[in-house]
Amino acid sequence: MNSIKVFCPATIANISCGFDVLGLALDAIGDEMMVRKTKQPGINISKITGQILPLETKKNVAGIAGLALLAESEYSGGFEIEIYKKIKAGSGIGSSAASSAGAVWAMNELLGKPFSPIELVKFAMQGEALASGVAHADNVAPALYGGFTLVRSYEPLDIIKINTPPDLYATVIHPQIEVKTSDSRKILKTSISLKDGIKQWGNVGGLISGLFLEDYDLIGRSLVDHIVEPIRSMLIPGFSEVKSETIKAGALGTGISGSGPSIFALSKGKDTADKVAEAMRNVYINIGVDYDVYVSKINTKGMHKI
Ligand code: ADP
Repeated sequence: MNSIKVFCPATIANISCGFDVLGLALDAIGDEMMVRKTKQPGINISKITGQILPLETKKNVAGIAGLALLAESEYSGGFEIEIYKKIKAGSGIGSSAASSAGAVWAMNELLGKPFSPIELVKFAMQGEALASGVAHADNVAPALYGGFTLVRSYEPLDIIKINTPPDLYATVIHPQIEVKTSDSRKILKTSISLKDGIKQWGNVGGLISGLFLEDYDLIGRSLVDHIVEPIRSMLIPGFSEVKSETIKAGALGTGISGSGPSIFALSKGKDTADKVAEAMRNVYINIGVDYDVYVSKINTKGMHKI
């Protein structure tokens, strides 16, 4: 196999209580990427459609992640990459992660899978470091593993795939305002109180248990963030209304997707997820801000060939 076309899913990081450690993959939105082996060594990004992003290898997250893989590989050739962007950069649904993870996943397939998923996460994290200044794994892990993932530890890197209950749907709204990951990190406090810590790790444990037990009420009770959401939500106009209206519409829980401005809700069943989408839309129609809305099943496959 000398070329491969892949679907690179959008992802929701944090999932309320799991700042920097939890994430999930979507299937209703993602980029596409074409990767070909070349005799010429290195990475050549030959085409990007859908968005204006740098073609220069070292300025594009796909290039940086790909170079990290090549540095550990015995392969003496290189790769040409075409990126078809559907996920807007800075939307908070893992635009950079889709490209970082997509590039290394595709290259690994073309080389006969010499690298394990955790090694691919490490390469893709180099791309994330370029996008946000921090080599976080909470978007690239679900993009590569599919479903829900927990980054149990960064040093050493330890990633656990969490069960996905079959009726769980995500609704995501992307209000068209820009919030840069790097900016939304700067406003966070660097320490938390023991009291907040206790509430937060109780909810992380509850969410993981709820996902494994397929206990939708427990999932809903655990989708609470006492630490990051109260601060970051100030950057997202309409956030508190979206939260209250989506809960009224039947969502299990609602929070900020990644660093925002996208807002996500989890629901049991597609009908409820559609009603939640309607509730989200109405808030931004009233405020007069443009938006994109997605209703998606959780993507348990992650990256895949198309
Ligand atoms: P998101 O949270 O949606 O990933 P970020 O703000 O973290 O958005 O990342 C987007 C940043 O990464 C932008 O500054 C963008 O220019 C840069 N970038 C570089 N290469 C890519 C790429 N292939 N896809 C998306 N963003 C990229």
